[in-house]
Amino acid sequence: MKGLNEASILKIIREHGPISRSDIAQMLNVSIPTATRITDSLLTDGLIVSVGFGLSSGGRSAPNLEINPTGAYIFGAEVTNNIEIALTNLKAEVIDASSVPAIRFGNPAETIKHIAATIDEMVIRNKIPDEKVYGVGIGTPGINFRANSIIEQSVFKGWNNVNIEELISSSIKYKTFVENIAYTSTLKEYWFGSGIGCGNFVNLLVDNGIGGGIILDGKLYKGMNGKAGHLGHISIENDGEYCYCGNKGCIERYASIPAIEKRVKRLIKDGVDTSLILEKPDLFDITYADICRASENGDDLCIKVLREAGRKLGSVVASISNIFDPELVIISGGVVRNNSIVFEECRAEALDRTFSFINVKRRMGIIKGNDRLQGPLGCVALVMESIFSQKL
Ligand SMILES: [Zn+2]
Repeated sequence: MKGLNEASILKIIREHGPISRSDIAQMLNVSIPTATRITDSLLTDGLIVSVGFGLSSGGRSAPNLEINPTGAYIFGAEVTNNIEIALTNLKAEVIDASSVPAIRFGNPAETIKHIAATIDEMVIRNKIPDEKVYGVGIGTPGINFRANSIIEQSVFKGWNNVNIEELISSSIKYKTFVENIAYTSTLKEYWFGSGIGCGNFVNLLVDNGIGGGIILDGKLYKGMNGKAGHLGHISIENDGEYCYCGNKGCIERYASIPAIEKRVKRLIKDGVDTSLILEKPDLFDITYADICRASENGDDLCIKVLREAGRKLGSVVASISNIFDPELVIISGGVVRNNSIVFEECRAEALDRTFSFINVKRRMGIIKGNDRLQGPLGCVALVMESIFSQKL
């Protein structure tokens, strides 16, 4: 992008297109010649197209401008249990996608090499000219302190103290943006999911760990070190279990997938009856999916543990509400994806604990994230931020 005006105009065309130059000028409060100069440049660059004619306010016909889907291409790669890679056009429509289990790659270096190789294959397979690849967005596990590009801590094995920028620059030839998956998942909700049109919300990603992202006034808020939103490390128990972050009793220790699995196994060891014993005689084999399934079949132990986790999460959502007063709190991730108990308990508890005298119409909404969106779209949004907003 050449400047803020280009990005602003592209954003307006993306959100309101097809749109005429005079409407763009009015919305941006610039003169029509200024809007025309910039849109002409965007037309030359192929980022927008003219799609037929509409009537301008003066009654004469004016070209309607729209984003050119083939004007640029974006890659998104998300590293979670699977490495999911997607190629999209400028309208974020997925053209090609790949997913392989992350366990196939022993370390971050191998993972990044796999992403680079897949990108190269997709470029060739889809006949994308190199210069049209605008960028690559990568969502990684762990805390990515932007100041030195080191992932310092991660719940993912092997992802501690990784210099991600070094790995990327030696394998990926395109402009690459990296954030942790809690941030990319927040951008996904903001650009394409449950947070569309909402300028103030908090996304609580509850999965193998608990993370989050904060959108304030339409912008991802990162804080001084790029670690704002690590909501999994809000302590709910003063003398609770030690956490790798340095705190004690972090919510991640009570409501993440491993924490819920651990709690169920603990209670089974203590002799609490459950249908899971017949199904999975070896405790080691019990997974979160098993716990959810057993709860749906009325298993008391599993229902109890899921409710406990939901209520604890709800107390954190109440704290979030008190700090940010957001329009929405979005709960996303594997814990709530296929299970309603945790979400419903969390929602009820949070509403119980927040100011009851606030006008109901102005109350914070608590909703689930949009599960239907593919993971890498959050990483695509990371690149789109730089095209359409220049806020990163
Ligand atoms: Zn912690």
